[in-house]
Formats: sequence, C-alpha cells, structure tokens
Amino acid sequence: MTHVIHRNPKANYPVAASGEGPYIIDDAGKKYFDAGDAAVSCLGHSNDSVAKAMKAQIDSISFTHSGFFTNPAMEGLATFLAGKAPGDLNHVFFVSGGSEAVESALKLARQYFLEKGEPSRTRFISRRQSYHGNTLGALSAGGNLWRREPFAPLLLPVDLISPCYEYRGRRDDETDWEFGQRTADELEAALMAQGPENICAFICEPVVGATLGAVPAVAGYFTRIREICDQYGVLFIADEVMCGMGRTGSLFAVEQENIVPDILVMAKGLGAGYQPIGAMMCTDEIYNAIVDGSGFFQHGHTYLGHPVACAGALAVQQYIEDNDLLSNVQLRGQQLREGLMARFGNNACVGDIRGRGLFQGMEIVADRLTKEPLDPALKVHVKIKAAAMDEGLMCYPMGGTIDGHRGDHVLLAPPFIVDESHVDEVVSKLGRAVDAVLQSVK
Ligand code: PLP
Repeated sequence: MTHVIHRNPKANYPVAASGEGPYIIDDAGKKYFDAGDAAVSCLGHSNDSVAKAMKAQIDSISFTHSGFFTNPAMEGLATFLAGKAPGDLNHVFFVSGGSEAVESALKLARQYFLEKGEPSRTRFISRRQSYHGNTLGALSAGGNLWRREPFAPLLLPVDLISPCYEYRGRRDDETDWEFGQRTADELEAALMAQGPENICAFICEPVVGATLGAVPAVAGYFTRIREICDQYGVLFIADEVMCGMGRTGSLFAVEQENIVPDILVMAKGLGAGYQPIGAMMCTDEIYNAIVDGSGFFQHGHTYLGHPVACAGALAVQQYIEDNDLLSNVQLRGQQLREGLMARFGNNACVGDIRGRGLFQGMEIVADRLTKEPLDPALKVHVKIKAAAMDEGLMCYPMGGTIDGHRGDHVLLAPPFIVDESHVDEVVSKLGRAVDAVLQSVK
C-alpha cells in the first residue's frame, strides 16, 4: 500500500532507481530511454557540473526569502537570460514551475493595465486545445475542455480562438500563408466581440507541445498576431514552458518567428529537472509601468528566486552554451525528423510528422488519405505509451479524449546531449511500439 497520492492511483508504476545520461533505470535494472518526460530533462541525468553548482550553493547558503534579500544566483541567472532574450525582455521573475509562471504573467498583465489607468481590461484570450498549467488561473487560460470541465465553475472567463494547426485547419483552397492570416484574424474578431478595452492579453505557445504534439505555426501567423495585439493595445504572452530554452533549436522559440512578446514564460528546460524552477520575463515598458506606478508587484511565493534552483538552472544554461548543445539540437533534430520520415513516412496510419529541433511529433490516424482518426475508444495513445515503456522508451502520447482534437499523437522530446545512435534507438523503439499497437487494433 502506498501513502502517496498518485495522479493515477491504479497505475502500476515502475520504481525509478537511478539516472544515467539519457536513461532512467528502474529497481529491476531495466533501462528506459528518456525521450518523453514532458520535455524537462534536456541534459539527461547525473550531470556533474550542475550537481557541483548546486552543492556549492547549498554549502554557501541554501535559502533566502525574497522579502529580505536578493542573492547572486538569482541575479546571475536573470542577467544571463536578459542577455539572451529577444528585444527588451530585460526583467525576470523566478518561480517554481510552469503554472506559477503563467499565473504570474496573467497577474502582471492585469496589474500593468491598472497602473496604466485601464481597469476595464480584465479578460484573456487563448486558443482551443491549449494547455497552460493546472492552477486555477493557468487552467482558465487553457482551452483544453477535458482538463477544464470539472473546475469550470471556478475558472476565469476566457475567449478561445482556433490554434494554428495546419494539418487539420488549412482548407484545400488556401495556402499556408492564407491559412495563417485567417487563423490569426480570429484574434481580431474575438477582440471586437468583447471590446478591445476589456482585454488584457492573448496567450499561446509558439510551438504547441502536450495538447497537439509539436505543432509550429505557419509562416506569417505570429507577425499578424503581433500586429493585432499592437493595434488594440493588448499584451502578447508567449508560453515557452515546454518549447523554450533550446528545445526547438533556438534558446527562445519566438526567435524563429522574429517577434518579441510582451511577456514570456518558461520552466521545464530552464532547470532541466535538476530543481523545480520557472520564470517570467517582461519588457521595459511593463516593468517601468510597475516601478514608476505603484512601485510594487502584487504577487509572490515563498520560493521565488530560490538560490539552489537558480544556481542549478544557471549551471544548466551554462553547460548548454559551453557545449554548443543548441547546434546538437538542430543536427539531431534533423536526424530525428528524417528517421521518423523513413520509418513512418509510408505508414498508412501516420498522417503527419512535424516539429522543430528535438521537439517532434506525429499524428496517428485510421487513414492517412482521409485523415480519419482512430476511434477514441481504442485509446491508441495510452497503448502506445505502454508499448513504448515495454520497449524501454519514454515518449509522450496524447489525444483521443481532447476536445475537438480528432486523433492521437506522439510527442518526442529527447535530451539535447543525444548522439546519432541514441536517435536511431528512439526511432527503432518507437517503431516497434507503434507497429505492435496498430496491429492489435486493426
Ligand atoms: N504551460 C505549458 C505549455 C506546459 O506544457 C505546462 C506543463 O506541461 C505548463 C504550462 C505547466 O507547467 P507545470 O506543470 O510546471 O506547472
């Protein structure tokens, strides 16, 4: 009998005994390639330089409360991030994870408009089939009905527009560009419906992770989103909790869209799982509105700017830079994409293979020609996860039950340290798992 509240109390989880590079090893000695722990472990396990930095921090000081002190680890990490971020995203607020970072962003957006004398701006706009976290504010901002449903009476009102999901959204009579513009224009329509003077911010992921499976927007989409936000004075919040910190081949995913959000949130890859940490960055304009206005950001948590978490994250980011791992993400990401195309490109049940860098996804369907999904009752994504674990592979399948998303997908997010043979191993293990599941349901 366990006393732990597991999310799925009926599941029979293996016990993780140790980690070694990209592998997790259970207490029976079985090795699992970690290509799907929700895009966290970008350095794999047991990285010595990160461990040393954290130990050194604990040896000097383990905790300081932000109401009394600042600390060099937090200041150093903020300087590092501000030096790399696009535009004037110069100010960083550190929290303990992705949901807290999103909560902070929503509250900062609201407070910004209060400081500016625009108190009617209270509403947020996000996209259908999105996920921004599980705390009540972050859950409100997400458009995944399955996750929202039990808590719906407790949530903030949010308007939802379509995701930029080319595989299922683009009409046959339009180009990618036209599809992107039409989809972005839904933001303008939503703003007009509520009155722009009532809207705080639009939030979305630059590359959609968990809920769609590594879906980037088409070219031109984010430029149009930025234009609309500027025209109506609405803030744009980029949620890079999953797709950020190098995962797509650039440190910030928005760099590949050539736009600067007003607020950017990050988490998973920031600390690579060595410590729980998330962050929110904002522009000079927003920061100065608070400093020159009330002078106080009315939000906070006990562990914000935790020195050990910040020291660990700074060591993670320095390791990525010193070892030029972003180049490896690009190189191995290309290999992964090509490997998936070679292994699944002719599979009648693989409808789409997409993604950026070491963030690749594929959509599993009943018929690739018609894009007809598999029956959700078959729970193909659940079966693929189990079959992959049997093969010794962690991947991240989702789908079936998600609102409006008529299909199953598999997301892959291997660590940035992978070499050629690791990528081959991921593709062949996934290949065997997917083959076995598809044979069993056909
Ligand atoms: N935003 C996105 C895009 C995510 O993928 C997640 C988690 O998967 C979150 C926010 C919430 O992060 P956390 O689970 O660290 O609270």
